This record gives sequence, C-alpha cells and structure tokens, in this order.
Amino acid sequence: MTVRAFGTPTAKNPLAPMDIARREPGETDIEIEILFCGVCHSDIHQARNEWKNTVYPCVPGHEIVGRVTKIGSKVTKHKVGDHAAVGCMVDSCRTCPNCQVGLEQYCHNWATFTYNSPDKHLGGHTFGGYSSHVVVDEAFTLRVPKELDLAATAPLLCAGITTYSPLRHWKVGPGKKVGIVGLGGLGHMGVKFARAFGAHVVLFTTSESKVADGLRLGAHEVVVSQDKAAMAKHAASLDFVLDCVSAQHDINEYIGLVKLDGTLCLVGVPENPLPVHPFSVILPRHSFAGSGIGGIAETQEMLEFCAQHGIVSDIEMISMQKVNEAWERMLKQDVRYRFVIDMKTLA
Ligand code: NAP
Ligand code: ZN
Ligand code: ZN
Repeated sequence: MTVRAFGTPTAKNPLAPMDIARREPGETDIEIEILFCGVCHSDIHQARNEWKNTVYPCVPGHEIVGRVTKIGSKVTKHKVGDHAAVGCMVDSCRTCPNCQVGLEQYCHNWATFTYNSPDKHLGGHTFGGYSSHVVVDEAFTLRVPKELDLAATAPLLCAGITTYSPLRHWKVGPGKKVGIVGLGGLGHMGVKFARAFGAHVVLFTTSESKVADGLRLGAHEVVVSQDKAAMAKHAASLDFVLDCVSAQHDINEYIGLVKLDGTLCLVGVPENPLPVHPFSVILPRHSFAGSGIGGIAETQEMLEFCAQHGIVSDIEMISMQKVNEAWERMLKQDVRYRFVIDMKTLA
C-alpha cells in the first residue's frame, strides 16, 4: 500500500511530503497507524548524509508510537486498537550470538534499522516514522504501558533506551557519581535515569540557560563547561560519564573528569572523528567506551521502569510542517528537550 510520508530526495533538500510503499502485514506483522514520532538528532545526521551512508529518498523517524490497525494471523503480542511502539530497529538476523542474547542492535549481520537499511520485504531500503503507517514484525515492536502519556513516550524509543542501556550496563546507582554531557534529547533522559537509579548526578552543559532545567530534571549539580574552574573541581572524580553531544567537541576534557578505572561512554555520534589523547586514557587507567541504543527486551524493560517511576520525556509538540524549523532549532541547541511530531498533521 502507498502511505503519506515526509522525507528528502537528497542531502540538501528540506523535508517535504512524499508517498512511500508499505507491505501488507504478513503472518507475524502488525500495521501501526503512527500517532506521534519523536525527532532524534540522528534523523538530521542521516538525512544530511553526515555519516556518509545515506540512501535516498530518506524518510527519518525512529521514535514511533501509534495504534495497531491490522495484525497478521500469528500475532500474539498485540490486538487491533492497542497502542504499540517501534524504535530504531525493525528486524535482525535473530540467530547470531548477539541476537540470541537479546542484543539485536549489535547483530553480526547488521540489524535492519527503521530507516536507511536494506528492506528484506519490498527491496530498496527502509523508511522511518515520519509517515502515516508502518508495518513491523511483532518481535520488533513494544507494548506501551497504559500509565504513560503517549506523545511523551515516543522519545523513550531512542533517547530513552540509548541512555538507559549504558547506565544499566555500567551499574550506575547509589554511591556512584555520574556525569551527563549535553542537555538535549538523550541528555535529559540520561539525567532522569541516572537520578532514578540513585546516583549523584552532575550535568555538563554548554548552555547557561539550561542550568535551572538541569536541576529540575534531576541533576544534583550543573556545570557550565566553559567555566574552567568549575570543570576543574570535578577532575578525576566521576565513576561514569555519558557523552550525549551531537557536535564536535574536545572529548579529552571529559575523559579527564573520570576517576581511576572509571569509564567515559560515548553515545553521541558527531559527523567527524573525536581525537583522543593517549594520556587521557592512560592516566589514570580510564576506559573510553561506546554504546548503541538497546535490545528489544531491554527496551520493554525500560518502558516498564518508566511506567513504575513516572518517567517520560519533556516534549514540545510540533506539526509535521514545522519539522524543518525544529531541525534548525536543534542545531542551535534550542530544544527543550525533544520535539515530537503530531502525526495527524501529516494528512
Ligand atoms: P540533541 O537533542 O540535539 O542534543 C545534543 C546536545 O549536545 C545539545 O542539546 C547540546 O547540549 C550539546 N551540543 C550541541 N552542539 C554542541 C557543541 N557544538 N558543543 C558542545 N555541546 C553541544 O541531540 P540528541 O537527539 O540528544 O542526540 C545526541 C547525539 O546522540 C547525536 O549525535 C545522535 O545522533 C546520537 N545518538 C546516538 C545513539 C546511539 O545509539 N549511540 C542513539 C540516538 C542518538 P548543551 O546545550 O547542554 O550543551
Ligand atoms: Zn535516535
Ligand atoms: Zn544477529
């Protein structure tokens, strides 16, 4: 079937309406009418070919929540009318060692990402959630706990799981001092989760105007990173730092905040390499790591955690027509703290 979408034919065009094909649901597929889609900075990197791997036309969007409109004969997870969600992946090989332990994002044969991956069903490549409907195998869909506000849940599908997963993996909790770098979509979820896990949370921001919000969102301390004296106070003191910055920056400054045997984990994916000085990791025995989204089971666990703890994203709702403007605002660090598209404005 043909559905309405917003996408771009090249790296240079603004997003504009287009029609795309979706498959008819197979036995294990569900069809979702998309109600809300979050706007991730990865959408901008990908649409503008900053990672040098984009295929066009590109329809971004991987923070999808909606209503189930059709189900295949073997579907057990959802009924027609349920709310359902889709994040950054729509399939993987399901057989490699990483898939078998629920780490589909690290599939040896590459996960099928929600957009810009080869489409196993229709040929061509996958199209994301800036569209009216999506058809996904139920194994890669999530149930939305009924306690959660639907629009504010959309960003949990990428910004939420991408911060939840490394904070869990590195066992952030009581007695740990944790730094979150960059208060955008990912960063604000990182602050909320680190606080909910019981850590002492220090937010590092380049935006003086975000200090009060940082404290309100759960940070115990907020450091404006241009203030070198304030930065120096935290030198070699943090157990774990989560770097959520979307642009070029000096990573060595933040690795230097980590204490003996601590870790700086990168989740931000700026366009170009980030040089690491050897002494940044050598003294005193720092680990420089990275993390990619999270597996399907962990994403469901994160949604249940959010329902139990009353956690959702702080959002600004926009119409589909405002998405190009929203992207420009994100590039100016002017998002508080996730844009979510009201998909009924697509029609
Ligand atoms: P976002 O909402 O635009 O936030 C990025 C934040 O980075 C900004 O709010 C700003 O925070 C900081 N920043 C921006 N430009 C900066 C600069 N020139 N110098 C220093 N700080 C700057 O982006 P997002 O959606 O959270 O995504 C963040 C990054 O994570 C993107 O690169 C995205 O592609 C990546 N990502 C990775 C994964 C993964 O699986 N690893 C998943 C999703 C997204 P302050 O104003 O507080 O300084
Ligand atoms: Zn994302
Ligand atoms: Zn696999």
